[in-house]
Amino acid sequence: MTEAAEFDLAVVGAGIVGLSCALAAVRRGLRVVVLERGARAQGASVRNFGFITVTGQDRDTVWPRARRSREVWHEVAAAAGVPVVQEGLWVAAQRPEAAAVLEAFLRTEMAEGCRLLTRSEALSRCPQLQTRGLEAVLLSAHELRVESRTALPAIAGWLAETWGVTFRWETVVHAIDAPRLATSRGTLRAPLVVVCPGDDLSTLFPERLASLGRCKLQMLRLESPGFTLPGTVLSDLSLLRYGGFAKLQEAVALKRRLETEQATQLRHGIHLIVAQAADGSLVVGDSHDYEAPDAPFASEALYALMLDEYRAVTGRAPPPVRERWTGTYAVASDRAFLVEAPSPGVRLVLVTSGVGASTGFALGEDVVRELLD
Ligand SMILES: Cc1cc2nc3c(=O)[nH]c(=O)nc-3n(C[C@H](O)[C@H](O)[C@H](O)COP(=O)(O)OP(=O)(O)OC[C@H]3O[C@@H](n4cnc5c(N)ncnc54)[C@H](O)[C@@H]3O)c2cc1C
Repeated sequence: MTEAAEFDLAVVGAGIVGLSCALAAVRRGLRVVVLERGARAQGASVRNFGFITVTGQDRDTVWPRARRSREVWHEVAAAAGVPVVQEGLWVAAQRPEAAAVLEAFLRTEMAEGCRLLTRSEALSRCPQLQTRGLEAVLLSAHELRVESRTALPAIAGWLAETWGVTFRWETVVHAIDAPRLATSRGTLRAPLVVVCPGDDLSTLFPERLASLGRCKLQMLRLESPGFTLPGTVLSDLSLLRYGGFAKLQEAVALKRRLETEQATQLRHGIHLIVAQAADGSLVVGDSHDYEAPDAPFASEALYALMLDEYRAVTGRAPPPVRERWTGTYAVASDRAFLVEAPSPGVRLVLVTSGVGASTGFALGEDVVRELLD
């Protein structure tokens, strides 16, 4: 690359947030370059569930962006040839206190498009949820699931071929003094820059990111159980992790009960998401370690707790484990997103609440609109 390279807007990072900003910018007619340290995206965006979640997202901060992003996901998936491998959400309440949370949720405006199934209705539609304690199931049609590890490269390819976005892989951006970007492969000029570094809090604008933390999640892929789930499944523990449920008054009693019955799971941020892939395999997780996110080791004890939760919800032994992996993302105690303007024409954009797959497209639109208008 030379000083002569000219773009209207440079995006740092080819995760879902960077690709979302690139899409929003090319849709506004800009010439866009994406600069990515890896030979391909390798961060949280390809390690997640690929679960685009609307129902249960925090009402004020996350839910509006999740609803808009879901619309964009449908457009992009169709255009970029990304298969939607599963649709819908099943929240399986195993305790009366969890069922009370779901009933309260149903009385809010966030429940538009959702319904509550009784135990017998749920079992007739999905006999696999044979947990003895099943009380009720919240059914939402809003969610969709993609296989992130193939979806991200497909979206990048589509942005390059259909929209003319330039990708510079294996290129680290060391410093930004817009319109000049210093990279590991020379300098590049773009008057507008959007930095989407994921959980790299130390390379660019570290002083702006000093208050953030990171968290590490453990994930599993299980072989096909031999049946098809009707949607992605969550359990009682999940009701304490998603703000749309957790902030309801009824969640207090659930929390009290889970603190007695599942204190270890709560301490390690364990809850259950079971998502199914096109080949029938199940992506199962997860745990949250905020203390030592850089530790290179994954705990077998935490995997065992996740598999116990799988057993409790399905009433079946889990299929053999095919893969184990970890992922990390940036976290803030006081906000779901960080958008800052470290200098004119430059925006620093992070999802600080682990919901980037569900909200990235709307976030990208908001950032580009604010930069241009
Ligand atoms: C295990 C796991 C499960 C998850 N499940 C879900 C889920 O079900 N639903 C959901 O909505 N969200 C989920 N998330 C959260 C979601 O994946 C993240 O919020 C999202 O991927 C963040 O995207 P990003 O583009 O900001 O970061 P990343 O995907 O981490 O991408 C950042 C990129 O920037 C590059 N980069 C950084 N600095 C530089 C630099 N200086 N120069 C060049 N390149 C640079 C990195 O190499 C990286 O590729 C999950 C996360 C994890 C880890």
